[in-house]
Order: sequence, then structure tokens, then C-alpha cells
Amino acid sequence: MLSAALGSVCIAVFAWQGGQPAPAHEGFEDTPYLPGQPWRVHDIKRPLPHLVVPGTESSQAQLGKPPSDAIVLFDGKDLSHWVNRRGGSETPARWKVENGYTEGVDGAGDLVSKEKFGDAQYHVEWMAPPVVRDSGQGRGNSGVLIMGRYEIQVLDNYNNLTYADGYAGAIYGQWPPLVTPPRKPGEWQVYDIIFEAPRFEGDKLAKPAYVTVLLNGVVLHHHKEIMGRMVYRQVATYSPHAPEEPLTLQDHHNPVRYRSVWVRRLTGYDNP
Ligand code: MG
Repeated sequence: MLSAALGSVCIAVFAWQGGQPAPAHEGFEDTPYLPGQPWRVHDIKRPLPHLVVPGTESSQAQLGKPPSDAIVLFDGKDLSHWVNRRGGSETPARWKVENGYTEGVDGAGDLVSKEKFGDAQYHVEWMAPPVVRDSGQGRGNSGVLIMGRYEIQVLDNYNNLTYADGYAGAIYGQWPPLVTPPRKPGEWQVYDIIFEAPRFEGDKLAKPAYVTVLLNGVVLHHHKEIMGRMVYRQVATYSPHAPEEPLTLQDHHNPVRYRSVWVRRLTGYDNP
């Protein structure tokens, strides 16, 4: 979805270079301003998140088991809880499954859970491709699209700069991560995400979505308000949708891998 517009990134970079210091990364200076922020969408001048070195990765043998009330969407064995969706068409899931992980297949489409969720805790383990190709948004790009719309960016950010609101763990196009704790391509990385779904009254937004995100045990967002569904080079807005929607893992044409994907529904206090 985003790759078709990647040419625009290069154009913007070249425009920026005209008579000015060359940028160290891609980005834009012609996109709209984000409401309430002094930055444009994908702003090339937005400060980049500070690097934090995360703790070491877990091997498959050390991998913790999901808690007893988790809905396990993928445990490394099969894609029975998923379909592929590309454009408007849906097919049985055909991402590759091998060696305890599933890997994006270019052209197969997004991996979409059959089950739907609203307020929820998500645990998603992912790996950027061990063979490094391309740069910026073209390197190890995928995404955890909560409710199929609200993207926590997946990207190989190891020695790979891009615009701040496109970093791994960014609320894509809205908020950069507080810091960046990437592991190397070929190492497993862990998202723990706590999500409050938006509420709608008829066609109107009654309450926006909020999200808390940890990457490799490091807080990237703490109860941050989401501005709307993921868009490229535009200011995000909400459109009404059902109280529960599928979890989507984005096909961005890169062979990103996932293992151990589970969800817990959050029902709030005093709900037996
Ligand atoms: Mg993405």
C-alpha cells in the first residue's frame, strides 16, 4: 500500500537536497501539519528517537508460554487462525510457515486474524529479514495493524534511519517511539501492546483509541491517543467501525517473520 508512493519519498529527499545540507534519511517537507504538533506528517526535520540498547533476545527454547486466558493466534505451527487479504479479496492464508515462524510472502497480502478484538493486550514477536536489503522504509517493513487500521510500525531500524514517525514502534505517521531499542536483523523482537479501542456514537467519534507499546521490554508509548487510521502522507482521521475488528500483520513486500502471536481481551475492572 505504501510502496506505490515510495517514489515520492525520493523526490522529497532530492528536493530537500537542493542547495541545502544533504539529509541523513528520507522524509518530507510538503506534507500537512499534524494537529497539535509542530511537525508535518513524516517530517524530515522531526528529531529522531534516541537509541537504547535492549536486553538480549530470547531463543525459541527460552520463549515464555502465553498466559492461560490468551487467545493464541500463532504458535509457530499453522495459520489456521488467519486468512490473507489483498485489496478486497480474501484467500486462505498462504504466508510461508517453517522452523516455528511465518514469513510474509510478497503479493499474498496482509495476514488477517479470523477472530476480532476490541480492547486487548497483544503479544507479537517479529524478526526483520536476516538478509538486509534496501534502506529506509524499504528495509524490513511490515506492521501490526490493530483493528486492521491502527499501525504500530514494524521496520528494520538497526543502522537504518528514516523519518521519525516511521520508525519501528511508531504510531505510523503520528507519533515516533519515545526511544528506539532495535535488535539486529535476524534477531527476534517483541511487541507488547495494550490497546483501548475507539468508541463511536453513530457516525461520531465518542472516544479515540489509546495505546501503550513496549518493544523489547522498553516503553515506546504510554497511553498515547491515536489520531485515526494509518495513512501515508496525510493527517489520520477516524471513520466508524465495529467494536471488534481483526488483527492484521502487514504485507509490505518484505519477508518479515512472526512467531508467538497472542491476544488477551481486556474487560475492565469488576467484570467477573
Ligand atoms: Mg508498515
